[in-house]
Amino acid sequence: MNRFNLDACLRVQNWLGSAVKKVVLIPHVNPDGDAIGASLGLNDVLRNAGFDSNVIVPNDFPVYLNWLSSEGTPIIYDKNTEKCNNLIDQADALFFLDFNDTKRLGLLEEYMKGIDTPIILIDHHPDPKISAAYQFSDIDVSSTAELVYDFIEALGMLNHLSPSGANALLTGIIADTGSFSHNAHRHSTYRITGELINKGADKERINESLFNNFSEKRMRLLGHCLSEKMEIFPQYRTALIWLSGTELKQFDFHPGDTEGFVNYPLSVKGIVFSAFFMEKNDIVKISFRSKGSFRTNDFSTTHFNGGGHRNASGGESKLPIDQALDLFRSLLPSYATQLDQD
Ligand code: 5GP
Ligand code: MN
Repeated sequence: MNRFNLDACLRVQNWLGSAVKKVVLIPHVNPDGDAIGASLGLNDVLRNAGFDSNVIVPNDFPVYLNWLSSEGTPIIYDKNTEKCNNLIDQADALFFLDFNDTKRLGLLEEYMKGIDTPIILIDHHPDPKISAAYQFSDIDVSSTAELVYDFIEALGMLNHLSPSGANALLTGIIADTGSFSHNAHRHSTYRITGELINKGADKERINESLFNNFSEKRMRLLGHCLSEKMEIFPQYRTALIWLSGTELKQFDFHPGDTEGFVNYPLSVKGIVFSAFFMEKNDIVKISFRSKGSFRTNDFSTTHFNGGGHRNASGGESKLPIDQALDLFRSLLPSYATQLDQD
């Protein structure tokens, strides 16, 4: 059974079938495996069903996701702004994937203010703040890719999913669950994984590309973070890692290179909260992860202009990095009680 409201599905189906030819799919800025996987999976189905469909990403995505691009390479907004603006202008429908707030559109946010094309939102973040014509949002789902599968199934379009689309969707599920290690306790995730494998998804290749695909420099950067840069606050069951712009240059940083680094400190016994701060252009970009009940999204929203899920969230700071780090350290005592719970 599908989790979506049947009536909304029928209305979308009718609308897509009658009034829509050109479609643009947009995931969030700094797109990760789920953002790219969900977008390319849906793009595959829409193209195979005869739509003129394109994926526009606000900025560049990690190289280890390049192999998923065989069915339509994402167009990068900050490198092809005019082409992207034209595609958006001509679109009959826009899909927003894997985000709940237009702030997450990056440089695209400004341009979208002048656009009134109907939006279909497919997302698994709490409290969507996007005004969408159709909203398929469920915070209990492993990933947006899983929701996209549900959406395709509800619209009777699974026959248009090719092996490369199946690879993209399974990449989203595996990326957002850390290869089924978190937020992966529901039957539907495994049913859909099985269906995607039936459709030709290659689980081994996906795992290799996501987790065993480090460049030497990236591996050494991880080593540097863990041996030189990890601060542990045992009394708050918290760990912190940070990287300056100079260090990133030193290790020949590419987008996606620090993906997943924030998770490592959670392998230290007793640590339930991990933070990763990194200088990025003029801001400090921050990732938070937790185990158990600590709500990193509330922490991030309250102090670092961010949001996300309970156990995985992010934010940013316009302060110089040393001040942003001092702020983080100074906040921990007021969270001592919450951090002491499992
Ligand atoms: P990551 O740490 O991998 O960049 O992001 C983890 C999750 O946190 C993302 O899936 C997204 O839900 C959320 N997130 C990351 N950065 C931001 C941000 O700047 N603002 C908001 N609202 N959410 C973010
Ligand atoms: Mn996601």
